[in-house]
Amino acid sequence: MSRVRVVGGGLAGVEAAHFLSGNGIEVDLFEMRPRAMTPAHKTGWLAELVCSNSFKGVDPLTAHGILKREMAGLGSLVLEVAEQTKVPAGKALAVDREAFSGRITAHIESSPLITTLREEFLVIDPALPTIIASGPLTSDALVSSLAGVTGTDRLFFYDAISPILDAESIDMGSAFFASRWSEGSDDYLNCPLDRDAYQGFVAELLDADRVQAHTFEDARYFESCLPIEVVAGRGSDALRFGTMRPVGLVDPKTGKRPFAVVQLRKENLKGNAYTMVGFQTRLTFPEQERVIRLIPALSHARFLRHGSIHRNTYLDSPRVLEQDLSLKGSPNLFLAGQITGVEGYMESAATGIMAGVSLLARLKSRPFSPPGADTALGALIHYITDRNTAGFQPTNTNFGIMEQPDVPKKGRAEVRSERADLSFTQWLKGLDDVLEWKD
Ligand SMILES: Cc1cc2nc3c(=O)[nH]c(=O)nc-3n(C[C@H](O)[C@H](O)[C@H](O)COP(=O)(O)OP(=O)(O)OC[C@H]3O[C@@H](n4cnc5c(N)ncnc54)[C@H](O)[C@@H]3O)c2cc1C
Repeated sequence: MSRVRVVGGGLAGVEAAHFLSGNGIEVDLFEMRPRAMTPAHKTGWLAELVCSNSFKGVDPLTAHGILKREMAGLGSLVLEVAEQTKVPAGKALAVDREAFSGRITAHIESSPLITTLREEFLVIDPALPTIIASGPLTSDALVSSLAGVTGTDRLFFYDAISPILDAESIDMGSAFFASRWSEGSDDYLNCPLDRDAYQGFVAELLDADRVQAHTFEDARYFESCLPIEVVAGRGSDALRFGTMRPVGLVDPKTGKRPFAVVQLRKENLKGNAYTMVGFQTRLTFPEQERVIRLIPALSHARFLRHGSIHRNTYLDSPRVLEQDLSLKGSPNLFLAGQITGVEGYMESAATGIMAGVSLLARLKSRPFSPPGADTALGALIHYITDRNTAGFQPTNTNFGIMEQPDVPKKGRAEVRSERADLSFTQWLKGLDDVLEWKD
């Protein structure tokens, strides 16, 4: 019987261990807690939820709902236990965090094929079949070992995330395409502000509620990547001379240079989502929506992802990961969870299962390819492994990264959900033959 290593007993690690052991593979699961703690975890439980107890929505007409349906199709332990321990939370799936992590821990520790080793995993041996799922707060020793395999320049330590907006919610009549000084093509969508709009925006930005930094999130990152509200606090024109500088731009409507400008860049080739360039922020999510909607072209903006800044160790996955989640040049070494650049509990858990499927295929010398980008799980994997991505930033699951069906807006969510279901079911069927799936 094969034996594999899974490093990290978080959301991704427990899913990978559960999947592999359920398919007859012996697993050594390394979890350093409670002997060595991360700065955010507080217990020795596996699958501890470090912050919110919500796993977001279950509606199959949303990207989060589709992802959950696909995880259920793959026998997700996290989802099964979440259902057993859920608490009332409207349309969202939220859990009693103690019952949730307690049950997962009991399940994994009583699994006959899983040996849980409570020790810090220090050095990666690329020759041994291993899944690294050590999360956004991977220990320093393991970061060094990982950097030895991937190169230090392929690891990031902070996430400075700008909001991503749904293209259809942007008022194209108020915005215009152009690059500064007409360099290159018209790659940017510019949202102009006049003096009054700019001053009103800055005043509200400074007044808005912010998320407090964790104590372990020191000020180092602020020097390299400042939140817009911090820049705004340095002077009324600070943003206008930085991220919102209008130089080299002429608004075709007025024939003049705008007083200030917010630049948006296509998030994907489809052009259905736009990133706000240099707009990383620590405002609370409702405040981001309120303040950013003060920008005239964005008065009805729909947020596909909110901005944030937090400590997060993750890989430049488009450069180092293969589509089967193995590391380029190290076919026995797989990555899963937040460290791959997915963002969120469910997204991490989902890639944990997928790394398990992929490693199992490798052990059986069978081919593996992920589901299509019209599925939620497939879209996540395509996003993190797309070699064309420049300036890689983590993502949660959202419709912006999923293939969009070419149908009218009305009824699109239903079509998308049906197509994702069909595509995923077909992929699962193919997997049956590949892995001799067992119930
Ligand atoms: C402060 C904070 C708040 C967050 N809040 C939310 C939220 O509200 N909602 C949300 O969806 N997501 C949130 N996230 C993101 C969240 O971490 C991930 O969504 C999810 O927990 C990642 O799953 P994972 O399995 O990749 O990592 P984790 O769940 O962190 O699991 C990784 C495990 O690896 C262990 N480990 C690390 N290094 C080693 C080592 N060398 N040897 C052995 N074990 C090791 C850790 O102890 C940990 O148990 C938050 C993240 C942080 C840091």
